[in-house]
Amino acid sequence: MVKDVKKQIRQLRGEIREHDYLYYVLNQPKISDHQYDKLFAELKELEQANPQFITPDSPTQRVSERPLEGFTSIRHSVPMLSMDNTYNAEELRAFDERVRKQLGSEDYDYVVELKIDGLAISLRYERGQLVTAATRGDGEVGDDVTANVRTIKAIPLVLFGDGKIPDVLEVRGEVYMPTTSFIELNRLRAEAGEPAFANPRNAAAGSLKLLDAKITAARNLSFFAYATGELSEPLAANHYQTLEKFKKLGLPVNPKIKRAKNIDEVINICLSWTERHSKLNYHIDGMVIKINRFDQRDVLGATGRAPRWCISYKFPAERAETIVESIDVQVGKSGILTPVANLTAVQLSGTAVKRASLHNFDELNRLNVGVGDTVVIEKAGEIIPQVIEVKAKAAVNVPFEVPTQCPICGSAVARDEEGVYIRCLNPDCLGQLKERLKYFAGRGQMDIEHLGDALIGQLVDTGLVRDLADLYKLKKSDLIGLDRMGEKSADNVIKAIRKSEKRALARIIAGLGIRHIGGQSAQILSEHFGTFPAFMAASEEELANIDQVGPTMARSIREYFNKQMDLLRELLKYLNPPPKTQRTDKLEGVTIVVTGTLENFTRQQAEQAIRQAGGKAPSSVSKKTDFVLAGKEAGSKLDKAQKLGVTVINEKQFLEMLVTKGEQ
Ligand SMILES: [Zn+2]
Repeated sequence: MVKDVKKQIRQLRGEIREHDYLYYVLNQPKISDHQYDKLFAELKELEQANPQFITPDSPTQRVSERPLEGFTSIRHSVPMLSMDNTYNAEELRAFDERVRKQLGSEDYDYVVELKIDGLAISLRYERGQLVTAATRGDGEVGDDVTANVRTIKAIPLVLFGDGKIPDVLEVRGEVYMPTTSFIELNRLRAEAGEPAFANPRNAAAGSLKLLDAKITAARNLSFFAYATGELSEPLAANHYQTLEKFKKLGLPVNPKIKRAKNIDEVINICLSWTERHSKLNYHIDGMVIKINRFDQRDVLGATGRAPRWCISYKFPAERAETIVESIDVQVGKSGILTPVANLTAVQLSGTAVKRASLHNFDELNRLNVGVGDTVVIEKAGEIIPQVIEVKAKAAVNVPFEVPTQCPICGSAVARDEEGVYIRCLNPDCLGQLKERLKYFAGRGQMDIEHLGDALIGQLVDTGLVRDLADLYKLKKSDLIGLDRMGEKSADNVIKAIRKSEKRALARIIAGLGIRHIGGQSAQILSEHFGTFPAFMAASEEELANIDQVGPTMARSIREYFNKQMDLLRELLKYLNPPPKTQRTDKLEGVTIVVTGTLENFTRQQAEQAIRQAGGKAPSSVSKKTDFVLAGKEAGSKLDKAQKLGVTVINEKQFLEMLVTKGEQ
């Protein structure tokens, strides 16, 4: 009898999964909603009567009953890279030209996809079961959003397939909110007196970051899969086959994806979508063009931040007309004054726009923008909206005066050497300090939760914080009594600050806001120096000699050190980044190219191990390559190594080299 119940439960789950797939993935339901609800109720009833048979992969278990306390981090085993952009056919042709140069006489083809404007997610399946889901984050580390992602019915909790699924299969794709759901959600929010989401992407992101999965479940999110991350064994030899495999596993793949034999076909597909993308029930902001064959992708490799085998094509910016209500002057973290236009709200690329940058005062004068004018604004890609031209002057002309003093501290301002920017020269300007603190605490840097703009404003205005290091001297009693700061919120702020003391060195370096040093350069610097004191002791010459750093960044870093050494010493008292694995010189001067599937490392890990041992790990084989480390199913790199007479080593030999010095 019990055995029968178990069998019945299994059968019902199978049926429901099948119908979910037909409905959410294929868009071809075979039964009515009513019939589906009946099946679901039947399963639920059986499970309730026999709770010993409830398993997490049951369709009844998508929504967790208990709200989360917060989000933990997940480190991506294979980083989620970003993509370079193109904006027209010529740039696409230039991309194709670069590809052809690198691939030589080989034939190659492309896969062209819609660029869904949602949130990139990495799903990890182990033995066919969904175990975790993480946001992209900074590409290396994202947030664990498993509980919320489980509520998305287009995402299978269990993959289809009979034992043919790799033990580890990471699926990457985009979580998005269909336009109709977005409009409905904003209507409900307006009724409830809640602020509207600016666009479907924000709505999707906000919905995935809710602590209560029950609310996420009601948000009607969906998903398209478009790539793999970590794989315990290869799924296919090319991208198009991978997508076909995805479909067989029950994963939703965008039906508009097309193969293209050459760049002319790619351009035609891109241009045709430029015309008709607004008719889709989801927002897309362009197209993604990928080289199909994986062995060719390996040959093409990647630059520091983006692969060379794919590119995005962004649709031309949309424009709109609106009225300038006022013009503010903002002070940036390095003192630059920026005029900003406050506008009568207008819809642009699916977003409500209320402010637009005027860049600088020369630009403002050139455009001759004044309060009350009707202007044309444009939004290009992800950039902040900007004023393009004045369509009609206001009836009463109010000329805008270029400031001669800082609007925050009242100090004198001066033009930059380049002559474009006007800067507040006061090193103690509180306006600049607020911006530096906001940047330091920001998500890409020290990621200090609960330390929002309003609180930073108060901390500076009350004199509690006068530099970055003062944040770490704050006590709970300092905070209580500030606006909206009770016992509990003060506690949260202090805890978040304490937590940030253990952030990685790369985040600290990025957070300092040194001119020309962004997240990527900070990563390179942290890998090179390993510790905060080693970084602080670096000479300009040493800095300039680091691969991908160079003289401009080196000078900028040294200038920062000269001015801020006291602050750095103070920060050093509080910050405790986890030590990096010690660098060795085992592979000093040795160049190794990694290819194929290894047993003990992902390719990225092997390359990191080479760099940490002082070696170089470029992505393509040349005459300068000392060794090619070939794993299983090594492709064209192995062929090239043999052609050039480069020594090929296996994983065992590589492991030995890491222990004893590599010799030729
Ligand atoms: Zn100032």
